[in-house]
Amino acid sequence: MIEINDLRKTYHMGSVEVLALQGVSLHVEAGDFVAIMGASGSGKSTLLQLMGLLDTPDSGSYKLAGREVANLTQDEMASVRSGTLGFVFQQFNLLARTSAEENTALPLLYSESGVHTDPRLLLQQVGLGERMGHKPNEMSGGQQQRVAIARALVNNPRVVLADEPTGNLDSKSSEEIVGILEGLNSRGITVVMVTHEPD
Ligand code: ADP
Ligand code: MG
Repeated sequence: MIEINDLRKTYHMGSVEVLALQGVSLHVEAGDFVAIMGASGSGKSTLLQLMGLLDTPDSGSYKLAGREVANLTQDEMASVRSGTLGFVFQQFNLLARTSAEENTALPLLYSESGVHTDPRLLLQQVGLGERMGHKPNEMSGGQQQRVAIARALVNNPRVVLADEPTGNLDSKSSEEIVGILEGLNSRGITVVMVTHEPD
């Protein structure tokens, strides 16, 4: 599903160069559930952003479902992203003043294909059937992250990328979120998760 070879990324901040990725290679099979671990600042988020086609590498190869995607244009990246990838962030990144249902439906504004799952059904599946009209500030962190997962699923992705999805949650909510990700994986979705938690 994911075949990355010798991926490199340097950030330029004024005169300072930050070598975030110095030749990363990684293979993820379809249906895998992979954890990426490592010290803070070691490049995990950078790698996940490249995997999620949210940014482009300086060099190296990235094949997603057999297609080379390391050098796509912004429009091409957006198209591949919306048809293949779902992204879950540590900070949830929901729109404030916007209901759970509208947040879940947001990716549909950008998607070209008509293939999607009903946002209301997804919210029911993550246990928020009674909270569809709630705004982010009316929900717990665990509930907000469940909305974010529903949003990541609305375009029926083959791969879900999660960057420390439990990093801001208590242990009970963390278990629920990991349980949901395991459920997705058991349905055949490939999951790549950055985490600091060995268990
Ligand atoms: P991790 O997620 O493992 O903590 P990151 O991928 O966020 O690591 O960061 C890797 C390195 O790149 C760090 O030194 C970080 O400060 C730097 N970095 C990350 N994003 C940027 C950016 N947008 N601009 C400049 N430097 C960045
Ligand atoms: Mg990070």
